[in-house]
Amino acid sequence: MRTLGPGKLVIATHNAGKLREIRALLAPYGLECVSAGDLGLPEPAETGTTFVENALIKAHAAARAANLPALADDSGLSVAALGGAPGVYTADWAQAAACEGGPGRDWYLAMGKVEGKLAELGPAAPRDAWFSCVLALAWPDGSAQVYEGRVDGTLVWPPRGTLGFGYDPVFVMQGDTQTFAELDPEEKHRRSHRADAFAKLVSAQFPASA
Ligand code: IMP
Repeated sequence: MRTLGPGKLVIATHNAGKLREIRALLAPYGLECVSAGDLGLPEPAETGTTFVENALIKAHAAARAANLPALADDSGLSVAALGGAPGVYTADWAQAAACEGGPGRDWYLAMGKVEGKLAELGPAAPRDAWFSCVLALAWPDGSAQVYEGRVDGTLVWPPRGTLGFGYDPVFVMQGDTQTFAELDPEEKHRRSHRADAFAKLVSAQFPASA
């Protein structure tokens, strides 16, 4: 298995919230992180039907284009009562919602769309949900590794908190009372689906510090 050494690592995302969290999570490991956006890399189409497929598509595309190792994150929110939706289509739901309401991705409309679909099921619909995160690390020679994380919780309405990104204001981790958007970012970094996937990446890539 190839492992990361000191040097440049491309963070294969154009999502500012993910980039901020990934940079913070990688800070202790002495890597020089450059983002796909900084390098002007195109965003590949996410044509996979699983988080793993999409994470690999993004990591391989960036590693090939930059000729450097690349780390991609594919993640999303799954709602049990909606059969796991929006799942791999989490970002698309924001896009679709934005088409109705204006340019760009609008997370408040996207959260409202999830809430609307739950409301259609009636007040007794279970509000269980989970965030998934798949991290794919790819090298220019085509080799890759995948690390999967998950955190379970429940959806609240109305949204609460201004920190984090995406669906954070409606997600409360199991056993917690604050939403991800109310938690101190360092605490989210310790406990989120991304932290879970990162712990697996760190124990494989940097075993001495795991
Ligand atoms: P993709 O992985 O680029 O397809 O986008 C996944 C989407 O899932 C993001 O744009 C966010 O809306 C949502 N998401 C992923 N991780 C988080 C998180 O930590 N908090 C809130 N939303 C998230």
